[in-house]
Amino acid sequence: MSVVARTASFRPRAAVSPLRRQAAAAVVRRPTVDQFIAAERPEEPVHCLRPAVIAANARTFVEAFPGDALYAVKCNPDPAVLRALHAGGVRHFDCASLQEVRLVRDMFPDAAIHFMHPVKARGAIREAWERHGVRDFVLDSAEELAKIRAEAAATGLPGRLGLIVRIALPKGGARLDLSGKFGAEPEDAAALLRAARGCAATLGVSFHVGSQCLDPLAWRAALGLAGQVIRTAGVAIDVVDVGGGFPVSYPDQEPPALGAFFAEIEEGFDRLGVPAARLWAEPGRVLVASGASVVVQVQARRGAMLYVNDGVYGSLSDAGALGFRYPVRMIRPDAKPIGALTEFSLYGPTCDSADVMRGPFVLPADVAEGDWIEIGQLGAYGACLRTAFNGFDRARIVEVADRPMLDGPACGTESLRIAA
Ligand SMILES: *Cc1c(COP(=O)(O)O)cnc(C)c1O
Repeated sequence: MSVVARTASFRPRAAVSPLRRQAAAAVVRRPTVDQFIAAERPEEPVHCLRPAVIAANARTFVEAFPGDALYAVKCNPDPAVLRALHAGGVRHFDCASLQEVRLVRDMFPDAAIHFMHPVKARGAIREAWERHGVRDFVLDSAEELAKIRAEAAATGLPGRLGLIVRIALPKGGARLDLSGKFGAEPEDAAALLRAARGCAATLGVSFHVGSQCLDPLAWRAALGLAGQVIRTAGVAIDVVDVGGGFPVSYPDQEPPALGAFFAEIEEGFDRLGVPAARLWAEPGRVLVASGASVVVQVQARRGAMLYVNDGVYGSLSDAGALGFRYPVRMIRPDAKPIGALTEFSLYGPTCDSADVMRGPFVLPADVAEGDWIEIGQLGAYGACLRTAFNGFDRARIVEVADRPMLDGPACGTESLRIAA
């Protein structure tokens, strides 16, 4: 048996059940990606988790953000990821479904869980309140307000109800625009705040600027709008939740340091004139993207097209329709690459012609059938979007000791120190 096989614990995984997977025991020794590939020569995609990287990202964010960091669980709900975030200091979780609430409560009896989906099933509200101690709920309509009040009351269990009104933002500059689906228009949001104040022990506003938002000024604009809503409502506010959307590096995108975003948030918050309120954020991508990669194998090469064993129905969906580019490197345990770096595109394994990832992905010119490719920055919205389409639902997961392929968030807190 190889060294790696003895020391690494990996587990086969079905595509669609990460929320139901049992939390496994911590791994004792972690191999490097190269060691694992050389020893196992896997023909299935391999998810390479970097728990130490995730914990470090979390620590950076939690220490620099001037409020509470609520991890957006949907971004990557893998128990090993949640454990690493917890180790890095995350104690608040933004859950959007009952399964997420159950998972987090199972793993962390003391964590603060916030139910942040504006449209919830009645039974989900009830179980969250009754069984999992959830007290904070987001809403963007009078109907949802009535639903939350009725279901919490129906449990007969007392508790300090927290209500967060989600404000709709105009279409912004984020890579993934999320305006339109959720959020109350400013006038409606103000009315909701007034209606909710009487029954809320904690009352707040929230917004989401969209995912992978590269512009710190988006938070300034959103906080300006939140200020208008708060002034129109004329009620006391206990929480200002600036949402998620904090960006990470990709080969074609280099975001400003986190400190630039936090400086805008602190200034915008100060301008609201609600000094007693608490700041929340809901980071997802920024905490976990650099914490996992996926190793795929080349099954055929036709010119500049590589046929690989994972694709848009697997963990590479954002590389498909959204055209995200990711850092890549070839792994060939037995020989050296020959030739200059060249641009390639990838075909996924399913029979769908839409299963294509244009990239371009820059690899050695002689990349060939049998080589492996490590694709980085896939800790966010990668594994959790897998499907079982066409039978390609198998992947392996291994915890590795490698550094991230691109650096995680840096705080760059000069501006914060000046502000403080
Ligand atoms: C998805 C989501 C997040 C996390 O977004 P990131 O871009 O991953 O930081 C936070 N809040 C809400 C409401 C979301 O829907």
